Formats: sequence, structure tokens, C-alpha cells
Amino acid sequence: MWNNVLVTGGAGFIGSHFVTRLLAAGEVGRVTVLDALTYAGSIHNLGEAFLAPHFRFVHGDITDHALVDAVVGEHDAVVHFAAESHVDRSFSAAGRFVSTNVAGTQILLDAAMRHGVRRFVHVSTDEVYGPVPTGVASEDDPLRPTVPYAASKAASDLMALSYHRTFGVPVCVTRSANNYGPRQHPEKIIPLFVTRLLKGHPVTLHGRGEHVRHWLHVTDHCQGIEVVLREGVPGEIYNIGGGTELTNRELTERILRACDADWGAVEFVEDRRCNDLRYAMDCTKITRLGYRPVREFADGLAETVEWYRAHPDRWAPLLRAPQTAGAPAGEGKG
Ligand code: NAD
Repeated sequence: MWNNVLVTGGAGFIGSHFVTRLLAAGEVGRVTVLDALTYAGSIHNLGEAFLAPHFRFVHGDITDHALVDAVVGEHDAVVHFAAESHVDRSFSAAGRFVSTNVAGTQILLDAAMRHGVRRFVHVSTDEVYGPVPTGVASEDDPLRPTVPYAASKAASDLMALSYHRTFGVPVCVTRSANNYGPRQHPEKIIPLFVTRLLKGHPVTLHGRGEHVRHWLHVTDHCQGIEVVLREGVPGEIYNIGGGTELTNRELTERILRACDADWGAVEFVEDRRCNDLRYAMDCTKITRLGYRPVREFADGLAETVEWYRAHPDRWAPLLRAPQTAGAPAGEGKG
């Protein structure tokens, strides 16, 4: 494996699960998290990691050239999660998405090139393909992102691949379906609905709830990223999916059941602008590397609800006022 792995955005939802997985694998010399601790990151997400002697946390921004150069230089692999990840926020603050997601990625790639990093995994999303009304998107399909978040991720994917082609940086790009699981920020649809229902508040559903998403447990996503870190071929893109396809209406039904609530708690509101009807990917390529998603949606959802029930201290302070909390509940994800 690798001696020293740098995980950017490791205090966020998926990054923190990946750090847990990497430390448990026990084959890595040092694991460093570089994270700016924006509103989306929390040091508490890394609670267990701090017990490991070979874990280190660096508080800093991926757009800080000098810091990035110093930190990347101490590692032989980079797994890059750090990003602005919420679609709805990208409508009002697109500049921040360009700065972190595009410029920040380029600054990391530059440092990786200078220091001869042996593997750079760039973590991306199915949203870069844009809406897929029927069928599935495969890795060489054109990118047709619709919203600023997805456009910034598409730009960062292309930047990462250009550093492979131009400079030989050993980049792999992963594109995952929607993730769910414990520790996700309650601005995203599953934790937003769960936390509001647990508090007895109503939730709002965009349009008629007909939008279709694939739901992948965060630990399955992390398995896929680890597979790519170990076995991925530089310059290649790997879709990561194999979760459960649900309309938002079906998803809401399952969340209501898991939270002992009913449709009386749901209000239908006008659809969000540019709300892609469906995302779907062909994930055959990564299964050839040995990737096998194992989490069943019903169990994963039950475990997730249980986590939010048991940890109100972690999410209650983050909830917005009742009348607005439902609005961004849509398909915003990372
Ligand atoms: P998140 O918002 O929970 O975490 C993002 C982390 O990045 C936070 O800890 C934040 O503090 C950090 N960060 C933000 N800006 C930074 C900066 N300028 N410098 C350093 N750190 C910074 O996001 P997530 O849901 O864990 O997503 C992680 C990655 O996975 C993102 O790149 C996202 O695009 C991608 N992704 C997410 C999903 C999903 O469903 N959540 C699906 C596919 C891909």
C-alpha cells in the first residue's frame, strides 16, 4: 500500500468514514487530514482517529499554496475529498465552489506533481454527467452538468485528468452516487428529513417527489475509493454505485416509516430550479477491480436513523428554522 496518505476534507462526512477505514486497514504509515473545518466539517467526525498514533490533523485550506506544498510533500498518496458539496448553496455562492472545488484541486495537483506523489484519487460525483432520463452513464460519456456545484466538480475532474495527461501525475477519478449514513450534515435530504421528523417538525418535498437518485451507503463508497487507491489505473475514471434506486417519494416513504411518522408530516413545495430528474451510472468497470457494495438500504437507513437519534448534540445546533429547513432538502448532495 502507501506509506503516508493525505486525506483532504477528512473532517467531512465521507472523508471521515474513509479515514476510519484507512486506519482500520493498518497498512499505512501515516494518515494526515487536511481540512479547513468549514460549516460542513467537524473535528468530532474524527473522534476515533485521534486515538491512532499515526494520525495527524492539519487545520488549513486547500487554496493555501504554501501550506498545501508543505503538507503534500510529506505524503506519497493523496485522496481528495475537500469540496463545497451542497447544490443549493452553489446557487448563491458559486464563486466559493469555483475557488475550493476547481482552484483548490489545481493547487493540490500542482503540489502532487512537484513532489512526485505516487497516487492521487480525486473524489467526484455522478452529477457531472447531468440528468440521465433513461439508461446509465458510463465513464467515457460526455459531461453535462446543470448546476454550479456539478459544473465545479466536472471542471475539477477535467483538471485532474489534464494533470495526468500533461504531467503524468498518477490521477484516478471516482464518481459516486448519492451517499447516506451516520455523520452527514443535516442540510442533505436524508439527515434533514430524519432530524426534523425526530423533532416532530414537518418536511418539504420538491415537485411531486418524482426525482430519482441512487443511494449508496457511505462505507460502500469508501470501499470503492480504497479499491481505486490500491488497484486503479492512473488516468482512469471509475463510477462507484450499486446502491438502491428510489424516487424521492419512495425515499420519503422509507424515512417516514423508519422515524415512526406518516405523510401528514410532508408538505409538497414548488420544485427547485434545475433539479435533474434522474442520475444513474454503469458501475461495471470498478467491479473488475474487486469492488462489491454490501450494505442493504433498509439496514443502512435504520442504522442512520439510530445514529441521529443517539447524537442530538451533533446535529441539533445545525438545524435551520422550521419554515426554511425543508426548502433545501432536495437533492442537494455532494
Ligand atoms: P462534506 O461537505 O461533508 O465535507 C467536505 C469537507 O471538506 C468538510 O470537512 C470541509 O470542512 C472541507 N473543506 C471544504 N472546503 C475546504 C477547503 N477550501 N480547504 C480544506 N477543506 C475544505 O462533503 P461530503 O459529502 O463528505 O463529500 C466529500 C466529497 O465527495 C466531495 O468532493 C463531494 O463532491 C464528493 N461526493 C459526495 C457525495 C455525497 O453524496 N455526499 C457523492 C459523490 C461525491
